Amino acid sequence: HADTAMYQAKKSGRNNYQFFRKELNAEVVERFSLERDISRALDRNEFILYYQPKIDLRSMGIVGAEALIRWNHPERGMVSPAKFIPIAEESGQIVGINRWVVKTAIEQWQKWISTGHVPGTVAVNMSGYQFAQQKVMNTVAEALELSGLDPEFLEIEITENILMQNISEAAAVLQQLKNMRVRIGIDDFGTGYSSLSYISSFKVDTIKIDRSFVMGCIEKPDNLVIIKTIIAMGQSLGIKVVAEGVETAEQLELIRQHGADMAQGYYFSKPVPPEEYIRLLDKKLY
Ligand code: C2E
Ligand code: MG
Ligand code: MG
Ligand code: MG
Repeated sequence: HADTAMYQAKKSGRNNYQFFRKELNAEVVERFSLERDISRALDRNEFILYYQPKIDLRSMGIVGAEALIRWNHPERGMVSPAKFIPIAEESGQIVGINRWVVKTAIEQWQKWISTGHVPGTVAVNMSGYQFAQQKVMNTVAEALELSGLDPEFLEIEITENILMQNISEAAAVLQQLKNMRVRIGIDDFGTGYSSLSYISSFKVDTIKIDRSFVMGCIEKPDNLVIIKTIIAMGQSLGIKVVAEGVETAEQLELIRQHGADMAQGYYFSKPVPPEEYIRLLDKKLY
């Protein structure tokens, strides 16, 4: 019996090993294939920016949007940024992607404003890698200058984690953005370990409460405590607080009651293509 058991264990161990190797190979192949395709995607115009409306909770009107990249892959269809952005960050391809994103959003905004629309502000996500590179500064300055867009329409979002991982570099870049009159937003707030003193010294304009806290705020009292604390902190520091991932009327009511300034989420709208954002704006949906 003992022998049989040993044999079984060895056999399954070996199978597991081979299974594991196969999985690993598949993952590596997938990564390489995506990395190769990313390098062609910019030239082939496969990226598009979608815009998710940001709603002011006092007026209940749209006051701007977050630009979210979409990749229409010729064979795979839509590939989620959650999948390809991390790969692009590791390979360095993120530098080119971020440049395209900033340029595209700024040009779009300038175009809308010059044709009489009132699109509010546009928030663009910046990755840590690019952020630390300083190159982002040139990109932003160049794109603003070329388009003639008033810098106050632009907001740069960086995550709390990225900020805290590169404090000295991030501080320098944020200061330069401030000098240019570009707004600064901290994304996914509450998931990292920033101290209050840092947040106040960075002179950020907005803080986004991470979706994970908003999602469970009705069921989990702890989440609500965190939300209340972030809002109170924002109010005392003069920083606007945005709740992300608002999906239900109950969640909206709760974050409004506690004094959040703005909200974003499927309850209002998913991220939509440019034409659709303009339609939402002009219809004054909310
Ligand atoms: P993020 O910046 O925190 O963006 C919010 C994500 O939550 C978006 O996912 C958005 O579609 C989703 N979301 C918004 N409201 C709701 C809701 O009510 N419910 C649910 N379940 N989800 C909601 P998306 O577009 O897939 O982007 C994922 C992440 O990829 C972003 O997180 C950001 O970190 C990154 N990303 C997206 N676009 C860009 C980009 O242009 N540049 C860079 N560097 N990163 C980007
Ligand atoms: Mg964001
Ligand atoms: Mg976020
Ligand atoms: Mg996020």
